[in-house]
Amino acid sequence: MTALFGIDLKDRRVVVAGAGNVASRRVRRFLAEGADLVVVAPVATADIRQHAQHGDLVWHERGIEEADLAEAWFVLAATDAPEVNDRVAAWAEARRVFCIDASDASHGSARQAALSRHGDLAIGVISTGTPDPRRIRAVRDALAAHVDAGEVDLRRRREGHGRVILVGAGPGDPGLVTVRGRQALAEADVVVADRLGTAELLVSVPYDVEVINVGKSPDTHPVPQDRINAILVEHALAGRTVVRLKGGDPFVLGRGGEEAHACIAAGVPVEVVPGVTSALSVPARAGIPVTQRGLSTAVLVTSGHAGADATAVTAMAEGTTVVVLMGVAALPDIVTAGLAGGADPATPVAIVESGTTVEERVTRGTLADIVRFAGETGVKPPAVIVVGNVARPDLLASQIAATPPRSG
Ligand code: SAH
Repeated sequence: MTALFGIDLKDRRVVVAGAGNVASRRVRRFLAEGADLVVVAPVATADIRQHAQHGDLVWHERGIEEADLAEAWFVLAATDAPEVNDRVAAWAEARRVFCIDASDASHGSARQAALSRHGDLAIGVISTGTPDPRRIRAVRDALAAHVDAGEVDLRRRREGHGRVILVGAGPGDPGLVTVRGRQALAEADVVVADRLGTAELLVSVPYDVEVINVGKSPDTHPVPQDRINAILVEHALAGRTVVRLKGGDPFVLGRGGEEAHACIAAGVPVEVVPGVTSALSVPARAGIPVTQRGLSTAVLVTSGHAGADATAVTAMAEGTTVVVLMGVAALPDIVTAGLAGGADPATPVAIVESGTTVEERVTRGTLADIVRFAGETGVKPPAVIVVGNVARPDLLASQIAATPPRSG
């Protein structure tokens, strides 16, 4: 009978006999576990040779010998000769070292589990009967997909230390949150959410998870930043896992740095889960590459809250792509400053409102006429303003099909 244990291979000697395709694949797994890896084989795949060159493992270029097992905690017999694998498995047995026999799992004392990792959780699947790698991988894939989709309640049941996870929710399309972001949401006891970018993700949060909305919206006063920081710290110090769900990326014009700092100052552990920032993804989804060979090799992301600063003006004048967030109200000032600073009035401008959502709308013009067009169409926040040649309507936009936002 085979039992399934979590064994820690970090810095422990693992000896692999063989360096063909099977060994190559398994070697990656041992490397990911941080094992002290020794591969013994007369010939090796390019992959293993490269790992050896980088110092990730030691490769002995010869056939396996019994003495190679001397320091081993674990052995993998994965040569292309079943009789060699069986011999290695017998040596391991005599030395009381666990061994996977890749040619016939029933000849070894251990079996390879199909494995997947999800934050601090690992899912391992083995079969205790006839070895059937594809079958256990299918089971693993099904379970992993379930967890990664955020469909499993990952909240900690045992009282532990509280923590804060700053999660970037992406620009609004729930398909644009990261896998780790979804996992973090499934771990949350409390979610402290912005309004922008988070609505569709919050739909799937269980009813007994407390959701605290701190985002700005037209009919509520924004919660001051100090208060948000205090909410995060208070809940974490009470032992909860707090997900701070922020639009886009937490560290792009989102005051995530201040929130992380408040947590650190209070001794609360913080994890940061990067997000897909609206600054790059909203233009991309609208068919605007923020850099493009021959047009612009740099992009400046800036806040338009207080108009255009000197850096933005210089960038506009030099033809560098400028992406302005929070710039709808100050659009006339930004345009005026750009033109006064020497930007070409014919510089294309695109304004993308509510990018990646069903409300997405793009208004185009040039520095000379965009203020008028924006007034006519009634542009309103949230919107990303792109100034530069990459915003030319004929570049890509007409050829790229807007991907319909997913629901749920
Ligand atoms: N941290 C966020 C930005 C926060 S500032 C990020 O990385 O995306 C808020 C500004 O982001 C809004 O005023 C708007 O300029 C922009 N924004 C966020 N989501 C948007 C969306 N779906 N469409 C257009 N602009 C968006």
